[in-house]
Amino acid sequence: MKVAWFHKFGGPEVLVYEEAPRPAPRAGEALVRVRAVGINHVDLDHRAGTSRIPLTFPHILGREFAGEVAGLNGEAAGFKEGDRVWVTCRLPCRKCELCLAGRDNLCLQEGYFGLDIPGGYAEYVTVPIANLNSLPSQVSFEDAAASQIAFGTAWHVLVNRGFLQAGQTVLIQAAGSGIGSAALQVAQLAGATLFATASSDQKLARAKALGAHHVINYSKENFAERVMALTGGRGVDVVMEHIGGEVFTRSLQCLARGGIIVTVGAHAGEVVQFDIIPFFRRELRLAGSKNASVLELRKVMGLVAEGKLKPVIHKSFPLAQAAEAHRVVDSRDIFGKVVLLT
Ligand SMILES: [Zn+2]
Repeated sequence: MKVAWFHKFGGPEVLVYEEAPRPAPRAGEALVRVRAVGINHVDLDHRAGTSRIPLTFPHILGREFAGEVAGLNGEAAGFKEGDRVWVTCRLPCRKCELCLAGRDNLCLQEGYFGLDIPGGYAEYVTVPIANLNSLPSQVSFEDAAASQIAFGTAWHVLVNRGFLQAGQTVLIQAAGSGIGSAALQVAQLAGATLFATASSDQKLARAKALGAHHVINYSKENFAERVMALTGGRGVDVVMEHIGGEVFTRSLQCLARGGIIVTVGAHAGEVVQFDIIPFFRRELRLAGSKNASVLELRKVMGLVAEGKLKPVIHKSFPLAQAAEAHRVVDSRDIFGKVVLLT
């Protein structure tokens, strides 16, 4: 089979398109013919070695993918060869206290495709049968591969960790990113008033088209001052923050009394300082957020199938051009997801 993998850490050029043996499903596994795989920023971190997680080489990335069942080794109620499927991106143990509490996104023995086991940057992947989910015919493989993590993460951030409710106000940082454009749609579905930031007027126009009521160009104006001006000095109820560094600190200044900031990324700075006094006096809250539970992933994919959530795809590339696709994601000059088609 063809695969795009890397033999050492480095820039996009280390991703090479080569021939590899087709894997065989072990007991309880299915073989999936991958048709589309979504690129996540974490893929770039793993490729560059900056995620500080040791990998075995050659390494196959690809956390979220969709395709067809090409083989089954075991009982697979409801699935047969040729069926269209999307594959749950994680392998929760289903036994630890967090899995049993329905918080399997925090599983103590989690494993991810493209990190702990080979991912979807390949024509074929073996997956546990329990990870198969039926993909309705109206959802393209491309859309399916761009939906699970962006919408699942956005749902977990806003609904589960941020307790976002109809009638509330929410600030979504970097609305042009894959998770940002997904969060706009989830927040709109939740019935909130949306404030969005982005680095260019072009991205803000796209954010408006996706439902943002107020848009702020953070490269031109102080977004915290702007949010306070737009809300008459009140601030917003919820902030989705996934930039880190100074953006995190200034995001705290956007919160209404009793508001909650949910942090889900830190590419611009992992260690921050903030003033504790206004934090407790205003009864602010800070919540971390990580991925989404399997139930949430299935919920958002159901909403994609119903047409209530629609992934924004910046561009799709053939798998052979994985290195070029990584360059595009790295440039950050994108709106939405980048997908590889196999
Ligand atoms: Zn577990």
